[in-house]
Amino acid sequence: MPSTEGRGAGTVSETQRHIGMVDAHSARNYAPLPVVISHGRGAWVEDVEGHRYLDMLSAYSALNFGHGHPEIVAAFVQQAETLSLTSRAFHNDQFGPFCEEITKLAGQDLVLPMNTGAEAVETALKAARKWGEKVKGVPANQAEILVCEGNFHGRTITIVSFSDDPQYRDGFGPFTPGFKLVPYGDAAALEAAIGPNTVGFLVEPIQGEGGIVVPPAGYLKRAAEICRRNRVLFMADEIQTGLARTGRMFACDHEDVKPDVLVLGKALGGGMMPVSAVLASREVLGVFEPGDHGSTFGGNPLACAVARRALHVLVRDGLAERAASLGEQFMAKLRALNSPIVKEVRGRGLLIGIELVPSAGPAKAYAKKLKDEGMLCKDTVESVLRIAPPLVIEPADLDWAYERLARVLR
Ligand code: PLP
Repeated sequence: MPSTEGRGAGTVSETQRHIGMVDAHSARNYAPLPVVISHGRGAWVEDVEGHRYLDMLSAYSALNFGHGHPEIVAAFVQQAETLSLTSRAFHNDQFGPFCEEITKLAGQDLVLPMNTGAEAVETALKAARKWGEKVKGVPANQAEILVCEGNFHGRTITIVSFSDDPQYRDGFGPFTPGFKLVPYGDAAALEAAIGPNTVGFLVEPIQGEGGIVVPPAGYLKRAAEICRRNRVLFMADEIQTGLARTGRMFACDHEDVKPDVLVLGKALGGGMMPVSAVLASREVLGVFEPGDHGSTFGGNPLACAVARRALHVLVRDGLAERAASLGEQFMAKLRALNSPIVKEVRGRGLLIGIELVPSAGPAKAYAKKLKDEGMLCKDTVESVLRIAPPLVIEPADLDWAYERLARVLR
């Protein structure tokens, strides 16, 4: 029962009670804003005390369809009641249709389903290494993969091995070799870094966690051409940017680039399930033999049914076009804000970063103030507020969010 009681001195509010349990019993690998959400519908959520908030983060782009999308919930419930898990020891009647539908949508030959984003990235790295050895002919254990400065691809030991954020690595060594950093957005530096054993170039079309960094126009196209010329796989991590977030189905579409390897996650699960996938040509994903790789839950019928419905809604409801037009209008308004503490507003579609000037202090403080105004978003890197609402958000709700942002940023 929502309650607004318990906020006075000496009493413990529901919010404090929940946060107390988390503080007492959970590893502190996150520093969440002090709000305890209990309900969600569309772009709006409600906390345990009955306060409503507009969700302008969307679980880091995993809630492209908003909370509790009725059709995706229906697909989830129906499939959960029918068949939830088989493992890949057997076939299930959702997996084949999922494979057919997602490969068609992405224009790729094959798909390999996983659960989380990091698992899909690991899968893509394994595919690239094995392709390098078995197809390109790189000597055993010599394959090299190029990655970008400022990258974020997840948290496994191999993935943090090639992060240049000291915190992501501190204490977690020894690290996986075989990766080399190149500057993001610099195609000439990419070309110069390619050697005889380079098998892949892993890149985010827009760096999300790195601060919503949009590379220079033409970078993705040039990088893909350089990779093709040098027989290096162009591997796009579209876990955050894919599935309509940036105003096209995939962010690579903005430059008419079809990656050799496409990595998806987050929104693929309809905001309901962890579902991720690697898509590529038969030449690349065909390198896997039975037993090479796997996941107990990857490709489970519940995940497949939810992902199928999510992809259907995405296309039918034109969510990419919606993200493009709403994002353009919203960014134009934010740019016109003329706030002395805003250095830059950047992004694509509904993936937007507001970079604050150094004298404004940490962006996190502004995320807290916005929370008090009823709008949820999060900082990324020290100085950037990340704005990524559900793509189903109503224009009136964006106006509402704009008023809060204007109040806090002015
Ligand atoms: N890749 C990118 C570009 C991401 O933004 C993220 C998550 O933020 C990941 C990979 C990791 O995904 P997950 O947290 O599901 O492992």
